[in-house]
Amino acid sequence: MTPPAIVILGAGALTTARRIQALYANSQVHGLQGRVAADVSYSELGAHLRELYARGTPIVALCAAGIVIRCVAPLLANKGAEPPVLAVAEDGSAVVPLLGGLAGVNVMARVIAAALAVSPAITTSGELRFGTCVLNPPEGYALADLGQGKRFVSDLLAGESTRIEGEAPWLDDAQLPRSASARLAIRVTPRAWSGRDDELVIHPRSVVVAVSGAGAEIEARVREALDAQGLAVLSLAALLASSEHMADQALAQAAASLNVPLRFTQTHPEDGERPSNLLHAALRIPYETLHDDATSGVALAVAPLAIDPDTIGRARGRLTVIGLGPGSADLMAPAARAALNEATDILGYDTYVKMAGPLRADQRVHGTDNREEMQRARHAFELASMGRSVVMVSSGDPGVFAMAAAVLEALDAERNAQWHAVDLSIVPGVSAAMATAAQAGAPLGHDFCMLSLSDNLKPWTIIEKRLRHAAEADLVMAFYNPISRARPWQLDKALDIVREYRAATTKVVLGRDIGRPGGTLRTIALGELRSSDVDMRTMVIVGSSTTRGFAKNAEGGEWIYTPRWYE
Ligand code: SAH
Repeated sequence: MTPPAIVILGAGALTTARRIQALYANSQVHGLQGRVAADVSYSELGAHLRELYARGTPIVALCAAGIVIRCVAPLLANKGAEPPVLAVAEDGSAVVPLLGGLAGVNVMARVIAAALAVSPAITTSGELRFGTCVLNPPEGYALADLGQGKRFVSDLLAGESTRIEGEAPWLDDAQLPRSASARLAIRVTPRAWSGRDDELVIHPRSVVVAVSGAGAEIEARVREALDAQGLAVLSLAALLASSEHMADQALAQAAASLNVPLRFTQTHPEDGERPSNLLHAALRIPYETLHDDATSGVALAVAPLAIDPDTIGRARGRLTVIGLGPGSADLMAPAARAALNEATDILGYDTYVKMAGPLRADQRVHGTDNREEMQRARHAFELASMGRSVVMVSSGDPGVFAMAAAVLEALDAERNAQWHAVDLSIVPGVSAAMATAAQAGAPLGHDFCMLSLSDNLKPWTIIEKRLRHAAEADLVMAFYNPISRARPWQLDKALDIVREYRAATTKVVLGRDIGRPGGTLRTIALGELRSSDVDMRTMVIVGSSTTRGFAKNAEGGEWIYTPRWYE
């Protein structure tokens, strides 16, 4: 289970929060910035709770139940996928499970209440009567049909008893009305539910399907084989294929539509890709081969109990290079957030890795100094080719003077097929020039260019030449890396060149730490700009001959824009 986020608003709740924290390995206490120091800080309760909820993180909030409900209310549409949410009184005197009945909220409420020596405020009737949620089997098991499950529990609540067929160790302690001759049965089986309404079918994820070859029709082949054996799709623990097909799109699509993890294994060349050989190579547990059809290239293995997919072969590794945007969480693309949530390993310059947080304690962080970019890119591939899910973070956009090009350069230079089999993708972000421009108005409203003034990776002569051409072409210019302690004179030189072509009244926008705490925005005339106005955290946008400004009506300051046309 993902460890819960224990959220507090003030120091008064810290003692109770720490007691709850002690119950869950790797859990963290989240404290309101400026009010209480905890493991993770957040600045706004509502936004923070919604973000945690949207990520599927269980929430234990030490505040009024009503506040918690109001905060997550906008996200409550999808009942199937909600994480547990509980409200706990600051002093530990009340534990109220609010949401996530099918995700184990009542189990959490019982555990927390027991530790705090109070009774949990459980309101779920089945749960109250039987001491467990029959419809919430543990990891590795899946309920065949939720609607039927609800009817079944109502029958039990109406006074009927049930038999249990198959292995259901988690029901051992439940106070279920049991009887060997009962009409109703709870059946734990990989066999598909027949549709009978006197049984509650729970599938152990105990079946592995191996397919040879790749290409289309995989899903249909798998479904046919399962049907032929009367097995349920929900019993699948994994779809297994040969490592040779790691990058095959059809396989990935089949696994996604079957909603099972995809795993790969290698067979001895003389054994070939026969599906039963794949099973033999990947499974380290006793199993029965139920279906071994060389013509359709599908074999099925059934184990006595649920199988942990992490013990089957290995996953295709992933490397996602993301841009965080300028800094604030609301300017990060949801795709970048999703990649972070799924990551096992996060790489990047320490400052950016911190910006990407809060991360979970089970996520490995490989922070580094800013300069070792190629080494970091290679490290990312090494981790990903071991099957891990790696995220590389850049600020702004990863393709703008950042890690995406370094990652591709590392891959381009590498022969290792395992690196090339990694599922590589790049998620764009809001670059500093865009974020700064948006705050100023629309200075990039017409043709513009982005230039890095750093001569670390290119000779200064090239920079001068590009500046001249860009200035002469009347492009708006966005300067990245404008100045640093190691490069003190370059900006003055650059401005001298630009001044040869542009009037002293040309508008210049300076954005510093845009989207980050303490960010500032200034507009200044080119003639007045000094290099002391700029540091390495500043974005410099030099307007073209048409860039203009006018006073903002209400809040003061100026809108800057470059019209879309020329006179
Ligand atoms: N990939 C980043 C740029 C990295 S180069 C992006 O797309 O934004 C680093 C330079 O970007 C800094 O020297 C500064 O000029 C600019 N920069 C990055 N973040 C900034 C921010 N939040 N505010 C202003 N400038 C920023």
